[in-house]
Amino acid sequence: MYAKCSPNGALNVLKEVFDRIQDHNVMCYVQSGAHDMEAIELFLEMVQTRITPNQYTLSAVLKACASLSNPLIGEQVHSYAMKLGLSAVDCVGNSLITMYARSGNMEHARKAFDVLFQAFELLHEIETEIDSFTFASLLSGASSIGAISKGEQIHARILKSSLEPCLHVSNALISMYSTCGSIDSASQVFNSMADRNIISWTSMVTGFAKHGLAAKALETFDEMVKAGVKPNDVTYIAVLSACSHAGLVSEGWTHFESMKTQHGINPRMDHYACMVDLLGRSGHLNEAMEFINTIPFKPDPLVLRTLLGACQVHKNTDLGKHVANMIIEQDPDDPAAYVLLSNLYASAGQWDKVAEIRKHMKQRNLAKEAGCSWVEAGNLIHKFHVGDTSHKQAFEIYQELHALVNEIKEMGYVPNTDFVLHDVGEEEKEKYLLQHSEKIAVAFGFIGSVGSSKPVRVFKNLRICGDCHSAFKYFSVARAREIVVRDSNRFHHFRNGSCSCNDHW
Ligand SMILES: [Zn+2]
Ligand SMILES: [Zn+2]
Repeated sequence: MYAKCSPNGALNVLKEVFDRIQDHNVMCYVQSGAHDMEAIELFLEMVQTRITPNQYTLSAVLKACASLSNPLIGEQVHSYAMKLGLSAVDCVGNSLITMYARSGNMEHARKAFDVLFQAFELLHEIETEIDSFTFASLLSGASSIGAISKGEQIHARILKSSLEPCLHVSNALISMYSTCGSIDSASQVFNSMADRNIISWTSMVTGFAKHGLAAKALETFDEMVKAGVKPNDVTYIAVLSACSHAGLVSEGWTHFESMKTQHGINPRMDHYACMVDLLGRSGHLNEAMEFINTIPFKPDPLVLRTLLGACQVHKNTDLGKHVANMIIEQDPDDPAAYVLLSNLYASAGQWDKVAEIRKHMKQRNLAKEAGCSWVEAGNLIHKFHVGDTSHKQAFEIYQELHALVNEIKEMGYVPNTDFVLHDVGEEEKEKYLLQHSEKIAVAFGFIGSVGSSKPVRVFKNLRICGDCHSAFKYFSVARAREIVVRDSNRFHHFRNGSCSCNDHW
């Protein structure tokens, strides 16, 4: 209000208000999404008028940059925070990690985490009592960058400290283990808890769902309800996505209905998106379209993109075109819609249409998000792009990759060139497949950990492609190792020639 009514004179009052607001309230202001840009503008105004922001303001602005995917402003806020000596404060540090991780800048995310971790080790050395908030905050940082080894170290310190295991820390541990790919450790923590709240239960249901353990997710949900804990809207997102990942259409409908009738929760856009995902994946494309038409508000592009993705998987070009037009009508500059549409045409072999869309995107200056995958090894994050040759072990990586592909071809692997979105000959297409960032990352994971029995853990910013998915099943047999891939959507555990998702993804 102050900012709007009297932009200049009232800034000091505004700053006072800002300073007095607790961390959570500032976050709420920013989390409402629509206000992200306003928050950033307000911040810039504060800086111009030489009002020094505190750690909460910085943290809030960084969160706004993260949700707007605007790392450029974020980087400037980062250097400003360093100047003020506030970049190592927990809440600022964590917002930095989130912001960099979301924009795929894993090197910077890792550096921001290391700063926090160093501060923590220093505290530990001088034997200061570390409070539960610091532990929880570090755990959340470790999970943002997928650094399970750091997470385990923090866990060990918690066990050694005199701290009573509190809900807050246990919940952070569940979420850290489950986001870093170790669902077993997450459920160990959960089982050892004497007291559980809605966050503990929801994190566990979400964890099982993301790891493709749909039966476990639904079982845990039932237990939760029996224990008298009332599910909330977030719990239902996990329940519906569990149904979706396992292709449980009728269970999905039942939960969607009972959410409102039994628990009085009105479905949000995310719940509708889960249902569209469930119907789309299982091939009920027309039913999904009809369902979208029943949504009582304007369908979000996210919901439509979900259906468009399903149209590509099930090669339904007609419905796909219709859905793409619906998205483009809402937002003519949505790069995701164009990319999905062009993929749809590519898999149908309509190369002239693909070229047309590419040209259109170029004219409008729409860039698609570049795919990248990363692995944590030797305390570093190793990040790879498509066809990456910049790693110092690139030669060994490609040698391993070629060896692997030759081995698995003998085992029956057939490269699926449907996933190559260029109009080239078959042999060329196979070469393109070999250069996918997730394949490079897995090969690097193998050569960097020969003789180990631990799973190779890979993270990808986009969804894993179908050919890599099939190749990794064979890889897990060829090297007798488990491969865990966290893509933008879920976890895949490749073990003994099959994947935990049962090919529902
Ligand atoms: Zn691939
Ligand atoms: Zn899978």
